[in-house]
Amino acid sequence: MNDNTGEGMLYLCATPIGNLSDISERVLETLRGADIIAAEDTRNSIKLLNHFDIRVPMTSYHEHNRYDKARELIGKMKMGAKVALITDAGTPAISDPGQVLTDMCHKEGIKVTSLPGPCALITALALSGIDSSRFVFEGFLPSEKKSRRQVISDLTKEKRTIIIYEAPHHLKGTLSDLYEALGDRGMALCRELTKKFEEVSRMSLKEAKDHCDACTPRGEYVLVIEGADEETGPIDVKEYSTKVLKAKVDEYTNEGMDHMEAMKKVAADLGVSKRDIYRKLIEK
Ligand code: SAM
Repeated sequence: MNDNTGEGMLYLCATPIGNLSDISERVLETLRGADIIAAEDTRNSIKLLNHFDIRVPMTSYHEHNRYDKARELIGKMKMGAKVALITDAGTPAISDPGQVLTDMCHKEGIKVTSLPGPCALITALALSGIDSSRFVFEGFLPSEKKSRRQVISDLTKEKRTIIIYEAPHHLKGTLSDLYEALGDRGMALCRELTKKFEEVSRMSLKEAKDHCDACTPRGEYVLVIEGADEETGPIDVKEYSTKVLKAKVDEYTNEGMDHMEAMKKVAADLGVSKRDIYRKLIEK
């Protein structure tokens, strides 16, 4: 371990996202020397620890106990414990509860160090071949309707490369929502990274949506999507069918917005002109 002060400390240990050989020497050494290993799912992590013959007490640290358990672990670190945090896969604190424990440790004056290693978003971005000079990581899109719509609407004007995590059973819906809002553009569908059946498919958003409509997505996915083109002006309303536009307006009117307001809001969400939406839905 890289600390011999005798003080308690938190070690963020990155673990493989699919290929066990991706674990680092330093992570193995740290896990072996820890007093406690805090794991997101102990049943899952025991397999990893057994594989490397690591026998250190484990405790669970997950979404539902992230505040209470953080306080308990901080108490132990204050008494000198070395706590190694691992999550189900990849780098702790990236789209998982590790961020809360890390934040609380800083606020309590507990030393934290990060042992870098596998991370699905960086693996996907590098593999995609899509512009990596500037990017935004969205993690998982919200499932709650209103905030999801807002996040996707904000993404329509995003010029940087966009990276999104998605579970297989939500992939179809997410690709369909993204295609409707962002229009057709290039992307990489990255699946089962570092595993035996790793795939990276460069295609357009529409092709990805059609591909997923035609099969049952399985495995783990990262979407890497090209940012909005600097040169393009407002999207042509012709890209959206009357049915899709009407459904979007209805979503807002059902929430209590008046019809004109709803059309304005949909125009802003989609980056199309208000007049065109009006013409398509009313004048026809
Ligand atoms: N902390 C992790 C990291 O460093 O990437 C991410 C945890 S997040 C809860 C899990 C999501 O990461 C999955 O739903 C998937 O989108 C992505 N992911 C993790 N492993 C992956 C893999 N081997 N291939 C593709 N995506 C993966």
